Amino acid sequence: MLESIRARFAEFEIHALWVAKPANIRYLTGFTSPSDAKLLVTESAAVLYTDARYTVQAQNECRVPHVIARWEEVFAHVKPLVSGKNVGFEADAVMYSDFHELLQGLAVSLRPVTDIVEPLRAIKTPIEIQKMRHAAQIADVALEQILPLIVPGASERDIALELEFQMRRLGADGAAFEIIVASGERGAMPHGTASHKLIQDGELVTIDWGAFLDGYHSDCTRTVAVGQVSDHLLEIYRTVLEAHRLGMAAVKPDAKCFDIDAISRDFIHGAGYGEFFGHSLGHGVGLNVHEAPRLSFRASGDERLEVGNVVTVEPGIYVPGIGGVRIEDMVLVTLGGCESLTHAPKQIL
Ligand code: ZN
Ligand code: ZN
Repeated sequence: MLESIRARFAEFEIHALWVAKPANIRYLTGFTSPSDAKLLVTESAAVLYTDARYTVQAQNECRVPHVIARWEEVFAHVKPLVSGKNVGFEADAVMYSDFHELLQGLAVSLRPVTDIVEPLRAIKTPIEIQKMRHAAQIADVALEQILPLIVPGASERDIALELEFQMRRLGADGAAFEIIVASGERGAMPHGTASHKLIQDGELVTIDWGAFLDGYHSDCTRTVAVGQVSDHLLEIYRTVLEAHRLGMAAVKPDAKCFDIDAISRDFIHGAGYGEFFGHSLGHGVGLNVHEAPRLSFRASGDERLEVGNVVTVEPGIYVPGIGGVRIEDMVLVTLGGCESLTHAPKQIL
């Protein structure tokens, strides 16, 4: 992995890279508390810097040499390794105050870089796939266990709590993100985290959840009906389900990310709900819940899927005052198309 990073140094006109993004640090070193670490990669060396709380952990986990130091001491160690060199830093992760500190501490030429580690992370290794498959499986089983609790009178929060509890009991390290449970009119908020609202008969309930396991995330959404829902909500559900099916069928190696988004989006538009689908069709998942590649109308024309990408397909329709539907699966791009890693049933009306 480090060699692949170094191979890109020339392209960015750098001789070394200062890595601050936790997911990138974890990916390149194996260290599982990357929020409390920094990583320097030079042409001939790599050093992880962390503090004394992690002496044993760094020893056990880190695949590159590490230095235990107080933050004030770190630059004294880094300086001789980078003197006279162009040092790249992650422009989309470093705050101005950190940049200032780096500039003072290293006294070298700093070069902003973006997307130097992320493209590597977008292609999952077999071990990463195994972890994500396991996370997705835990999430599937947990949903199945809490489905009977989704009844009139139950609160959104209680459902979210139970879902997280079940995932942890099944071996997850936690929820992949704050669980969304959005019922009735709240379903019109794509990111409506669980509230104290009580679920009522005749409502749709959108649940967006995932498991966090060994650094990796799963991501899935289902919308379930409580009792008899209106024909209007049924029509919205069927529209999203078909948009989802079309999107899934379009996921294959070499497919353009923009085009896959367009296939689902055009269908929703044709059904008259275009203005109610505001977000992208999907995103990459891995060490972060949202990472490359993105299936989006914002993707550039040359962004294409590759074997080993893990992406979500998640069309939705959100009608203010009425409610909403989203259906999301997390899929692995394979030679023949894609394989869904999430398997919770979709026909739950
Ligand atoms: Zn999701
Ligand atoms: Zn998602």
